[in-house]
Amino acid sequence: MMYYTHLAFGFLVSLLSIEFFNIQNKLIFILIVVFFSIFPDIDERKSKIGRKNKTLSTIINFIFGHRGFFHSIYIPLIFYFIFYYINNEIGIAILVGYFSHLFMDAITKNGIRPLYPIINKKINGPIKTNSILEKILFLVIIFLISYFLLIYL
Ligand SMILES: [Zn+2]
Repeated sequence: MMYYTHLAFGFLVSLLSIEFFNIQNKLIFILIVVFFSIFPDIDERKSKIGRKNKTLSTIINFIFGHRGFFHSIYIPLIFYFIFYYINNEIGIAILVGYFSHLFMDAITKNGIRPLYPIINKKINGPIKTNSILEKILFLVIIFLISYFLLIYL
């Protein structure tokens, strides 16, 4: 998925999560969710976030590879358990944002290995990154965001 599709989906999921989890600090919650909706691609030097953090991205890519450990469920779970005790809303925001990214990558052709490196099984879907199908999906997400904002604002 392109970073803007991840951002849009992260934003949509953050709006839905505010209602679902009854979040109090809404703006901070949205910002953290949106940040973590693109964060996992730090493991790819050519990604938007990778290019902005070249050194860190190169190190992570060298050690873990792209769509390896940084695209597994372990990192968000570890972050969640650390941050939940500091501030439960931050913990939830990280989990929601990170999982929104994993979900979107899981429906691409390349897929992810959510339990890597313990279990190597890959899950994937029909969408090719940057294809017309992804662009349609992006527009659907934008439509849902607009719809949601119109109802709740
Ligand atoms: Zn990714």
